[in-house]
Amino acid sequence: MTFKRILLKASGEALMGSQGFGIDVAVVDRIAADIAAVHAKGVEISIVIGGGNIFRGVAVASRGGDRVTGDHMGMLGTVINALALRTSLVKLGVEAVVLSAIAMPELCESFSQRAARAHADAGRVVIFAGGTGNPFFTTDSAGALRAAEMGAEALFKGTQVDGIYSADPKLDPTATRYDRLTHSEVLDKRLAVMDIAAVALARENRIPVVVFSIHQPGELERILDGRGRATIVSD
Ligand code: UDP
Repeated sequence: MTFKRILLKASGEALMGSQGFGIDVAVVDRIAADIAAVHAKGVEISIVIGGGNIFRGVAVASRGGDRVTGDHMGMLGTVINALALRTSLVKLGVEAVVLSAIAMPELCESFSQRAARAHADAGRVVIFAGGTGNPFFTTDSAGALRAAEMGAEALFKGTQVDGIYSADPKLDPTATRYDRLTHSEVLDKRLAVMDIAAVALARENRIPVVVFSIHQPGELERILDGRGRATIVSD
């Protein structure tokens, strides 16, 4: 795989380490180092960051609250994570910028495709915050959407494990791992790696999805070098 332009979707949960909530700065620093290593090799990398370590809209809805407000709270969580990731990248000397789908100009720039492309063309790492900016969506869908908008050659989905399994390997010891799948197989087998809208959008735009463990230091770079472990989803 010789991708020169990728989009990384990192879940919010990846940032919380073993704490169970919030942000573990040491973990964010480590993920930032992996991003910096890839960026230093001349690969254009932009990131969509999740917010599940802080808030998920469904948590409000499941307790009788308003889903839309819950999703707004979830999207705000992604902005906190994006600012943490930018801080870690800047510490490493990497120029990085946060673009939010929800305008909050005191904190960061607002998203537009043109601004994102201009920053990336200038060699900056672009971090997309606020998901798609709409309730009832996920940051996985934002990942597929921004990958398409950026013209990314692949959507890298960092997960808790080293690829896509037939069932959750942490819960089911008989789960088997796939090396390769098509987008349609992921949808037909109802594999719970990303939500349906995200996989459908990636399929529609012929964007391969590379599923790998975000917890393995250096794995992103190894995959780009053709030595890493991942499940590749492509047509
Ligand atoms: N969210 C949303 N619209 C989006 C993206 C995210 O409403 O386009 C909200 C939603 O409530 C979601 C939360 O933000 O639960 C956090 O995002 P997500 O669950 O995708 O984060 P991750 O699982 O990647 O940490």
